[in-house]
Amino acid sequence: MLTLHCPYCDVQTDETELTPGGEAHLTRHGPGSDDDAFHDYLFSRANPRGVHFERWRHGYGCGKWFLAARDTRTLEVFGTYEAQTTEPPDHILAAIRDKRPGWTRAS
Ligand SMILES: [Zn+2]
Repeated sequence: MLTLHCPYCDVQTDETELTPGGEAHLTRHGPGSDDDAFHDYLFSRANPRGVHFERWRHGYGCGKWFLAARDTRTLEVFGTYEAQTTEPPDHILAAIRDKRPGWTRAS
């Protein structure tokens, strides 16, 4: 079972208390952008096999959104952080590189 730490409540929660929200750190392309950029914003996702940055909502707790870095193959969690963060924090990236030497962020 997947368990994640809610950075707002400071509690460890299991996935039955959480709602997935898809890929994190998407660049929003709204009306006025070209069609390809808007299409990619709406429909294109990395869906990697391995390290992934995701949005989660603590639906049966504080109700807030937060972000998590985890491995989609093993469910290993590298860390969670506040949803207002535009890029993964350095300590999360360091934790990933420590356990996955040679890993690089796709974008
Ligand atoms: Zn919470």
